[in-house]
Amino acid sequence: MGNCAVVGINWGDEGKGRMVDLLTEKYDYVVRYQGGGNAGHTVINDKGKFALHLIPSGIFRGSAVNVIGSGVALDPENLFAEIDSLEARGVDVSPARLRISERASVLMPWHRELDALEEKRLADRQYGSTKQGIAPFYSDKYAKKTVLAGEVFYPEALKTHLEELLEWKNLVLTGVYGAAPCTMAELLEWKERYLDRLAPYLCDTGRLLEDAQTQGRPILFEAQLGALRDIEYGIVPYTTSSNTLAAYAPVGSGFPGARIDEVTGVVKAYSTCVGEGPFVSEMFGEEADALRQAGAEYGAKTGRPRRVGAFDAVATRYGVRTQCATNIALTKLDVLGYMEKIPVCVAYSIGGKLTREFPFPSALGSAKPVTEWFEGWKCDISSARSWNALPEAARRYVEYIEQAVGCPITYVSVGPERDSMIIR
Ligand code: GDP
Repeated sequence: MGNCAVVGINWGDEGKGRMVDLLTEKYDYVVRYQGGGNAGHTVINDKGKFALHLIPSGIFRGSAVNVIGSGVALDPENLFAEIDSLEARGVDVSPARLRISERASVLMPWHRELDALEEKRLADRQYGSTKQGIAPFYSDKYAKKTVLAGEVFYPEALKTHLEELLEWKNLVLTGVYGAAPCTMAELLEWKERYLDRLAPYLCDTGRLLEDAQTQGRPILFEAQLGALRDIEYGIVPYTTSSNTLAAYAPVGSGFPGARIDEVTGVVKAYSTCVGEGPFVSEMFGEEADALRQAGAEYGAKTGRPRRVGAFDAVATRYGVRTQCATNIALTKLDVLGYMEKIPVCVAYSIGGKLTREFPFPSALGSAKPVTEWFEGWKCDISSARSWNALPEAARRYVEYIEQAVGCPITYVSVGPERDSMIIR
């Protein structure tokens, strides 16, 4: 059995967490390789309902080793809050089950504050940040102005490094934003409370995963957010600050030689988007309220109502292409059971011209959806467990999407629970 990456095809929130939770049974390692505490993966299983932010969704399977790779925005505050809340509910998150790359860069206490300050400065031009410090973190990572987790093993050098960072960061906090400076005493307290606690979890995850691959032990890579939020290929600037693509998994896991044999792209049977930016197939008013309600579309991290819309075949085709998806998991098909007619955005009209190609970000603002309507099935399909148990109209809808996005749909999810799944 090969390695697999489970990735988002749209704007995120596609249901990757539930897919990883389902698939982890077959994998010995589950790896998070990018992003941070800014998104949430919801997992519902025999232990209850959980929203995971930094910890891989394989944590519920006793046999899986969970890995946080070097590409993740390692936010120790969020991480330990998550570890403590999981352990309080009986989930083992000991260092034997969770390994963290010593090369992961650390999200510093000022990153969250800088995120909020910048969004405030932008006022009505906000990017829609979750204010978890992700953009300031990645800026600093690439400016080489944050610490690596493994520096905790070099306390003297770390202290000097923290002093240097603090001196520079205070110039930004006070000079650019007029905010209060951070003190060394506060920083040292944060270090002792959070950074030092990382030590037992840290290792060379590259070596760990290389050994796993050499021994033929399969690895599952779990992405956060979706293709349209990718820093390079997404709807810039309404993206996240990391690479959400499967192609980044080897680098962000710490093992550049990792093979990706299969890419399972996760996408909902309709579209949703959290935050700002163009969303061509967006619905409004009562139509949107009904879909939001049916799909319980509220952010796992922020509780924000998600924007909802018709399945966007143009954006999804682009997501499939950039993710190089080999197969698709279509989630939340059950949610559409209330609809008489189901809308699908099959093309965009831009300046009177029709296109099926996802355009350059600047052209998206003026794109209008071209909609086709499909017959609804008007019943509850959440207990269907086989392809043939689905009503014919539901099968036709799935087959249409499959053909429209050019990728086989091998999983059809009809509910949030682990077994609410049709495997084709
Ligand atoms: P992720 O970030 O991609 O893991 O997605 P989220 O966890 O933020 O959002 C997916 C939401 O949809 C969660 O609340 C899931 O429990 C729920 N969900 C996933 N698949 C299905 C499904 O097939 N049907 C229904 N009704 N809910 C689902």
